[in-house]
Amino acid sequence: WSADTIAVVTGANRGIGFEIAHQLGLHGLTVVLTSRETAVGEEAAKVLKEGGLKVVFHQLDVIDHESINTFCTWIKENYGSIDILINNAGFNHNVGSENSVEFAEKVISTNYFGTKNMIKAAIPLMRPNNAGARIVSVSSRLGRLNGRKNRISNDELRQQLEDVESLSEEKIDGMVNKFLEQVKDGSWTSGGWPQNNTDYALSKLAVNAYTRVVARELSGRPEGEKIYINCYCPGWVKTAMTGWAGQVTTEEGADTALWLSLLPDMRISGKFFAERREIHF
Ligand code: NDP
Repeated sequence: WSADTIAVVTGANRGIGFEIAHQLGLHGLTVVLTSRETAVGEEAAKVLKEGGLKVVFHQLDVIDHESINTFCTWIKENYGSIDILINNAGFNHNVGSENSVEFAEKVISTNYFGTKNMIKAAIPLMRPNNAGARIVSVSSRLGRLNGRKNRISNDELRQQLEDVESLSEEKIDGMVNKFLEQVKDGSWTSGGWPQNNTDYALSKLAVNAYTRVVARELSGRPEGEKIYINCYCPGWVKTAMTGWAGQVTTEEGADTALWLSLLPDMRISGKFFAERREIHF
């Protein structure tokens, strides 16, 4: 990894994303710090540039296809390719303990569809190299299939998600769309969805499942053209999302993203991590 290595971080104007951008910059990479709001993104990039890091800003809203297209064209024209993509942009309305699905559409669009949009757009741009290009998505233990606290009680759905070989993008889309329909008609409480932070947990569960699907699709690539895709939980981090009530710092929350991005002999794909260890989905 060097200054020629191009790392893109989504939602990097604050919180964990900003810290990931900071740490990647400290490792000497060229970091493309992106944010949906230009003014705050430019300000965040300026702070890192003033610290001597190689950081550039570009606008990127992960739920806006036009913004993604403009971004990818800019990358092609200015850098040619991407080596590392960090899908960090996310939204959660359930900051306290209440389980609201009022913002379910925004939560699912940002966390699942936004992440999927970025993965699809970035793959054709990823640069072949011997260490393997990297995609890392910031997910959450709340979206675990077998989590003790937030288990999906709908057995049919659980079985579908556990059957990795026949899991598909269509099935995952079908799952989240069914949930959104049930939110609209008011029947979601009996749908067997995760009980806590339901919309957010489901959005991250979908990110995890999609990570496994894409890893399977990419697994046949020859040496030199490998792309490794993984997701991780940063822990409960002191950011706006937790009302700064989290237990760990943004540095600690960013750590596993750095590790997954920069590990020299990677060869792991389609897995879920926390604190640099593989955990079950
Ligand atoms: P913040 O709320 O501080 O940061 C979220 C970032 O995502 C902001 O930069 C926000 O931009 C950006 N964002 C939201 N929507 C979009 C969009 N459509 N396009 C581009 N960027 C967008 O939260 P965190 O730093 O805590 O969260 C970062 C990631 O970590 C999220 O994916 C979150 O789900 C995940 N996570 C966080 C945990 C925690 O304890 N904090 C635990 C587990 C996972 P803007 O400033 O414009 O709103």
